[in-house]
Amino acid sequence: MTRSTDTQRPTDRKHKALGLILGGLAVLLSMLVFLLPALERVYLGQLGKREAPTLTLAVEGLTGSLRRFEALPALIAERPDLAAALSNPSDRALIDRVNDELHRTAEEVGLSDIFLIDPTGLTVAASNHWKELSFVGQNFAYRPYFTLALAGEQGRFFALGTTSGERGYFFAEAVRDGADILGVLAVKFTVDAFEDAWRNGNNEILVLDDAGVIFMASRPDWHFRSLGPLSPEARAIIESTKKYPMDRLVPLQATEEPIDDGFRQVAITSEDGTLGRYVMQSQMIPEAGWEVSLLTPSDQAWTQAMGTVALTALCLLLVALIATVVIQRRVQLQERIRAALSMQEELEHRVTQRTAELEKANRLITQEVEERRAAETLLRQTQTELIQAGKLAALGQMAAALSHEFNQPLAAVKSFARNAGAYLDRGEPEKVRQNVGMIDDMVDRLAAISTHLRNFARRPGEKTEPVLLNRAIDTALVIVEPKMRGSGCRVNRDEIEGEIWVNGGQVRLQQVFVNLLSNAVDAMADQPDPVVDLSLEIIGTRVHVRVRDRGTGMTDAEIAQLFDPFFTTKEPGKGMGLGLSISYNIVRDFGGTLEGGNHPEGGAVFSVTLNLAEAPSLAAAE
Ligand code: ADP
Repeated sequence: MTRSTDTQRPTDRKHKALGLILGGLAVLLSMLVFLLPALERVYLGQLGKREAPTLTLAVEGLTGSLRRFEALPALIAERPDLAAALSNPSDRALIDRVNDELHRTAEEVGLSDIFLIDPTGLTVAASNHWKELSFVGQNFAYRPYFTLALAGEQGRFFALGTTSGERGYFFAEAVRDGADILGVLAVKFTVDAFEDAWRNGNNEILVLDDAGVIFMASRPDWHFRSLGPLSPEARAIIESTKKYPMDRLVPLQATEEPIDDGFRQVAITSEDGTLGRYVMQSQMIPEAGWEVSLLTPSDQAWTQAMGTVALTALCLLLVALIATVVIQRRVQLQERIRAALSMQEELEHRVTQRTAELEKANRLITQEVEERRAAETLLRQTQTELIQAGKLAALGQMAAALSHEFNQPLAAVKSFARNAGAYLDRGEPEKVRQNVGMIDDMVDRLAAISTHLRNFARRPGEKTEPVLLNRAIDTALVIVEPKMRGSGCRVNRDEIEGEIWVNGGQVRLQQVFVNLLSNAVDAMADQPDPVVDLSLEIIGTRVHVRVRDRGTGMTDAEIAQLFDPFFTTKEPGKGMGLGLSISYNIVRDFGGTLEGGNHPEGGAVFSVTLNLAEAPSLAAAE
């Protein structure tokens, strides 16, 4: 069975859908992998923004210190002792006093060094005069802060101390006497404390000077390094100002890549080969020409990006899995519906087929029933006619015997009448009465025969009613009596106790017994002592009447055809072969049965079975 639309099977659709899901999944997963770097950049940006306050804090710390120390040289330079010392460098006592003053001031304001330089660059007094590596006697003419201050400007400079070996920031101001510049006062503060503070966090902080050299860093191994190669000019200046040790100016192995919002991604390989990946953000301190950078390790951004991708991939897989399960379920359902539909169609088809067959069979049955009904009607009609014909035939057969029967009593009546007349003449009234009485008996007998004949000739009614079985048998015996007497036949009859009522019709029932008795007599025509046994037996609601003779019995072939109309073994003119057939139908009309067969001890036996009936309150006469 095919369906006109939707010819695609659910399993095909399932494979298609699963293919789509797998394809979509593959595309989405590869897109995720492709998006991974972008996602990482987003997380790097977020990380940078989160850490931005740390940079601001570092910058503010540095700017604060610069501002604080910036004004100090000018203030200290105004001290008269300094100008005096510059004017009299050989005044030992004065120089000592200045040395002490500078030492005390340095302690008070938290400067690492304060020192006084004469116009040739020679240091005449210093706060660290008492130290082994004292600035006193050192010449700093090569330092830019000195030359600037001597020119009347503010000198500022960051350098690695040539004497101390300590990195520091220098501020310098001219020491004046009126308009004359007598020398320079310089102060230096170290930056180690800042770096110590920076080391507390997770981030790295570094400060680049205008040449691009890292002069401050939370990691000491980055000191004097640069993120890229230095220009030859920058190197020359550094060399001339002895700013940094030239041998340490080696660029770091670093790669840089800008991200959004001013952030950069930096990868730095250390000397030991370990790779550090950072998100870098920078802020300028313009007055010093510094660039402060904060480097936040970016591993967590990578981890976050990976986590997000993994989670998304997992979600996608889950969605795909759910979709697959859903599709699987739907397909199963569709398969089931499809199977149910096809089964239903098959069933409908079968039902239609069966209905058509049944309709055909019904038509045939109806036709057959009509034919049978017609045949039955015909049979009934024929049977009724045959009953009548059978009766007439029986009457015909009996006509001779009857005429003999009638003639005999009539002759007797005549002779009794004649006798009566003679006795009357002789005056013997007793004898007359005797003869008249005998005439009366004879007439009664004639009347009885006449009544039976009239009943027999009458067409029977169709209805059944309670009839007296005893009477039917008695009447039948009376009818066949002449025939029996003719062949010297006796009847051996069971004594019937009380009345037995059965369902039937009086005349038809007696006709049955007349037939059976008559056949029995015929069967024993050649017997020397013909006897008919007539027995009765009541079993439950039925009564069995058996008529047995001592004749020759019947062959099997005869038994098979007994009740067929016109079956007879008798000579032509003696039998029509209708008696048993009619009797059979009569008994069947009464709801009873008629069976015939051979008696085990010889002869034939016919059994009439009838339904017992309630005795009517008033015996109905037919
Ligand atoms: P008919 O008496 O006119 O032949 P029936 O229908 O009464 O018609 O009987 C049919 C046949 O059944 C008889 O010709 C006879 O061969 C057989 N038949 C009937 N009754 C007996 C019997 N008591 N013994 C042997 N044969 C019988």
